[in-house]
Amino acid sequence: MSEVEIVAPKTFIGGIYGFRTYDSREIRYVGMTTASVTVRERQHFKTAASGRKTPLYDWLRKEGREHAIAVPLEVVLTGLDDLAEAEIRWIARLRRGGHRLLNLSEGGKGPNGHIWTEKQRRAAGDRARGRPTGVHRRGPESPIWGRAIHSEEQKAKWSAMRKGTNTGAANPNYGKFGPDHPSFAHTMSAASRARLSEMRRGELNPNFGKVASEETRAKRSAALRGRPMPSSVRNAHTRHHTNKGVFKETCRHCIDDRNNERDGK
Ligand SMILES: [Zn+2]
Repeated sequence: MSEVEIVAPKTFIGGIYGFRTYDSREIRYVGMTTASVTVRERQHFKTAASGRKTPLYDWLRKEGREHAIAVPLEVVLTGLDDLAEAEIRWIARLRRGGHRLLNLSEGGKGPNGHIWTEKQRRAAGDRARGRPTGVHRRGPESPIWGRAIHSEEQKAKWSAMRKGTNTGAANPNYGKFGPDHPSFAHTMSAASRARLSEMRRGELNPNFGKVASEETRAKRSAALRGRPMPSSVRNAHTRHHTNKGVFKETCRHCIDDRNNERDGK
């Protein structure tokens, strides 16, 4: 019998994760955890359900578990300092790349230079629930014992409830124009715009493979009847210049495209 050398694996210190929706590659929040991403994800959804008001938790409530997911971005094996640095690096990198992160800080250790380890987080949670620290209720004692995961029916119900919650007057930006609108004067680099566009192309697009119903098509056709086509200068430029390889000095979109190409955007 030969001896097998066992090499001790490097210790798992923690990981960096990102929240996104199932149908987009855009990351909306970056976090670090000393637990598994699945465990941290569950905690976030719990906190969201408790009603905490931050951009992340507002977003998690809006998307729900059926749309939002936490995905691992990096595993850190070296130490808590490196974990904190990795978070700072990821937040900076994704922000540069045009990802609309909901993080309120630039990452890293908190204001008092501290990282919550999973153990500390659990203990704090247990204390808050008035439960002796380190005691976990298992089996029938568990608060979720015997509870089924959400049924398709329940999920559909929630989805229907959320539908339209941000439309019209219910939208926080309803009726805000010009300088009053949070996006006023906000510009994005051509590189960021290209990256965002890439994330919604092909099968990543929410409308990928979907065909509008006869009814919808008839409605759209009626609405557009009598309007000269193409409906915009931009549209005409794409159809008659870009697609046919034509360049017109008098078309501002042709000029824009040429400048962008020259600038390597
Ligand atoms: Zn043109």
